[in-house]
Amino acid sequence: MNVLVLNVGSSSVKFQIIATDLERIQKNADSRLCRGEVERTGGEAIVTFQRGSEAKRKFTAASPDVSAVLDHVIGYVASKESGVSEIQSAADIHAVGHRVVHGGELFSESTLIDDKVLQGIKDCIDLAPLHNPDNVKGILVARELLGKDTPQVAVFDTAFHHSVPDRAFLYAIPYRLYGRYRIRRYGFHGTSHRYVSFRYRTLRGLTSNQTNLITLHLGNGCSAAAILRGNSVDTSMGMTPLEGLVMGTRSGDLDPALVSLIAAKEGMSLPEVETLLNHQSGLLGLSGLTNDMRVLLGELKDRDNARARLAVEVFCYRARKYIGAYLAAMGGADAIVFTGGIGENSPEIRARICEGMEWANLKIDAAKNEQTIAREGLISREDSKLLAYAIPTDEELLIARDTVQVILGQPHPS
Ligand code: ADP
Repeated sequence: MNVLVLNVGSSSVKFQIIATDLERIQKNADSRLCRGEVERTGGEAIVTFQRGSEAKRKFTAASPDVSAVLDHVIGYVASKESGVSEIQSAADIHAVGHRVVHGGELFSESTLIDDKVLQGIKDCIDLAPLHNPDNVKGILVARELLGKDTPQVAVFDTAFHHSVPDRAFLYAIPYRLYGRYRIRRYGFHGTSHRYVSFRYRTLRGLTSNQTNLITLHLGNGCSAAAILRGNSVDTSMGMTPLEGLVMGTRSGDLDPALVSLIAAKEGMSLPEVETLLNHQSGLLGLSGLTNDMRVLLGELKDRDNARARLAVEVFCYRARKYIGAYLAAMGGADAIVFTGGIGENSPEIRARICEGMEWANLKIDAAKNEQTIAREGLISREDSKLLAYAIPTDEELLIARDTVQVILGQPHPS
């Protein structure tokens, strides 16, 4: 089955086509036919396209709306020029898997999209006004371009965290606010946490029930998850992705009284403060330089830049604090898994986060850590009781696999 995986955002559309079926899932032998991204700026779109693992190609296209963008992408993939011989026409796309940001309390797993499900996703718009409308648009456009008979599956960023108990998801505010507006913590990055948890237990030959770990997704957005017996029991993002770890441009945890204080001192409206916390804070806000961890580490190394140092220290300290909190919440864990652009590629950040954690029986193996970049591997020492791994995430692969399994009515593993 050729599955088109779509991640439709406000200014970009990311896509992959993955050929997979139950046998290939079993053998871990799915094949990525192509992938790309369309970034929309005004009336023009910049398309980045990659067939298999060939070099990336870049070109521009007109992009009045998402429909035109997707039509262009499908047309290009099906053309001779793309070189994707498996896709000769739109009919060779057998299913679509959508990344949907918010499934609220409604969706606890990946779901075949019919009109009722589509309405449910629309009902969650209130919870994710910046994201779900684009996801809905993506579903409608795919339906229009590929026909109603092409099955579409929604894979929710929040679904994996459905197992988080109320003691962890409730905010200590008047309970009626939860009853009235569903104000609670939902968590995000669920597909990534679920994927690396699955890879971890596959690497170790464990059952889901034996899977007790802390996953750290450290990319532009960052979150931690506590996974007990294969289920998420706590996670650091909240009602929105702003809570928790320090991120590229998001503050993560802070004193909520700061919102009105900053508004008053800086003469800002509340939405402007929210923008400041989402887009001008985190690594960027602390360093005053960039949200890019690679650049910050370079500044630190080459110029011993004090603000870059501060940003990196606050980032790592917060992550370590969450590991400690989750170890306490879970009564201990067997492993920590690093993923996301930073977690997969930066031995330095991984080492800094784990610094001084010998008390928890966590000892990083410096050589293994240095060698494990953009690939799966154990990075802790043999005498470390708490193991540490780096595992590249692959949310698109999990979305494609879920899509196949949901369509065929097969259970998909957590
Ligand atoms: P997104 O959350 O947008 O998917 P990524 O998971 O790609 O982002 O992560 C982006 C982050 O990963 C950036 O801060 C980038 O600097 C960082 N990163 C990528 N490679 C490295 C590296 N070799 N060393 C340190 N940080 C890296």
